[in-house]
This record gives sequence, C-alpha cells and structure tokens, in this order.
Amino acid sequence: MSVSTTHEVGFAARREPSAAPVDGERKKRYAIKAIWRTLQGEGAWSGRAAVFVRLAGCNMWTGEARDRARDAARNGAACPLWCDTDFRKAGAVRLTASDLVAEIQRVAAEANPEVPIRFVVLTGGEPFLQADAVLVQALHAEGFEIAVETNGTVALAEAFTDAEGALALPDWVVCSPKLPEDRLVLEWMDELKLVVPDYRPEAYARFAERTRPHEVAGRTRRHLWLQPEDGPRQEKATRLAIALALRQPDWRVSVQTHKLLGID
Ligand code: SF4
Repeated sequence: MSVSTTHEVGFAARREPSAAPVDGERKKRYAIKAIWRTLQGEGAWSGRAAVFVRLAGCNMWTGEARDRARDAARNGAACPLWCDTDFRKAGAVRLTASDLVAEIQRVAAEANPEVPIRFVVLTGGEPFLQADAVLVQALHAEGFEIAVETNGTVALAEAFTDAEGALALPDWVVCSPKLPEDRLVLEWMDELKLVVPDYRPEAYARFAERTRPHEVAGRTRRHLWLQPEDGPRQEKATRLAIALALRQPDWRVSVQTHKLLGID
C-alpha cells in the first residue's frame, strides 16, 4: 500500500500566474519532474514527513537506457549502469520559483491544512544544476526547512549565490558521490552516503572530513552512511555494508525505510 501522494506537476503549470511572484521579473523556470508528499526514507531524517521535489536533469547520465554504458565510460561514474531514477527532462513541467513554491505549499498542506509539512527535499537527478538562491529564499520566506541531495560535483557557492553575490544556502546537505573524491567540489555536507559495493569508505576518507559534525547523544559525530545498492546486487551489497560498518564503526548502514514501508 502506498501512502505517499505523487502529483502531476502539469496541474500547477496550468494555473494562472501568481499575482505577486517572489522572483519579481525573473524569468527562470525550473524543470520539475515530480512533487510528492511522503516520508524521508533515508538518513538522519528518516521517517520525517517531507515534500519531495524532483528536479530534472543530471550531469552523470542522460537518463536514457541506450546511454548508460556511454555515459558511465564518459564520466567515469558507475551509477549510470544501475540508476533507476527517472529524471529525464522529457515530461518535466517548467515552473517559476513562485509557482513552484505555491505548488509545494499546496502539497504540504494536503494531509493537514492546520499543520502543514515544513520540510522540503530537493532531489534529482542532480538538483544543483537548477536549484539556486532564489528558490532557497522563496522557500525560506514561507517557513520551509530545505534539504538537498547532491552528487557533490557542483559547489554550494556556485549553485546558491544570488545576483548580489550573497549566499542563500539550503539547511541540510546530503551527498552521495558518484565520482572519485578528487573530482568532487562540494564544500561541506551534513550527511555522506556511499552506495556499496561501488563506493567504499577507504576511497572517500578525505572527502568524509568535509561532513559537518552534529551533536548526537551529547557527542559530536558525523553522519556517514553505507547504503546497499538496490537491485540484483542488493543481497551481496547488504552483506558488504554490514561487514564494512562492523570494521569501520564511524560508518552506519543506511536502510531505505521508504521501501520497507511501501511508499515512494
Ligand atoms: S548521479 Fe544520481 S541521479 Fe544521476 S545518474 Fe548517478 S545515481 Fe542517477
């Protein structure tokens, strides 16, 4: 049974333009693949109600099956060989920041208009190709807390610097790298998630130091996760993740609870 709600964002695109757009005369439109209300399934905020926004496009793969091997070889990333996310621009709806925030607010209030969800997760594809300071400012203005999920190939400063040169940053950054650490430019993150077996702690020791420590049970520690790859290799990947976590206890095994719960 699925308790999450996926909305056709095309509905939002057919609405009348907002009377007072938060982005003024700015014409940028974000290519949005889906907006849905669900529970965060992974990591430190696992189980928390959230509105997920999938931004179209990725810099590792076109999203087309015929390009998997080509893009994996071209980018030096294994993930195009197994990625199962539909982030293709085909079928995406293009929304201004104000219309996108309005749609997020509508979805956030559906379950309980008295206590709407105030946690947004920007995901992709690679959301840093589109997400920017204007969107962050617009979501913060409506009281949303913002988490992002990135592959670490675009710097926060590059993605989230506004026209005046000021940073408007998301509140929580999760990085799941798909390239070797010397090719990653992300300045910091709150959670580092490695998809095993292709991505291992020993290959990301220096990058892991960019993870911001957080206080847990009176001590500061980093959120470092080993996530078994989904699909045909899952059983083997799970055994490996457990073995790695037992040998390297700073790392924890990440369970995709949304899949256990049967939600999107
Ligand atoms: S970076 Fe992420 S979204 Fe893009 S192809 Fe790799 S796994 Fe898929």
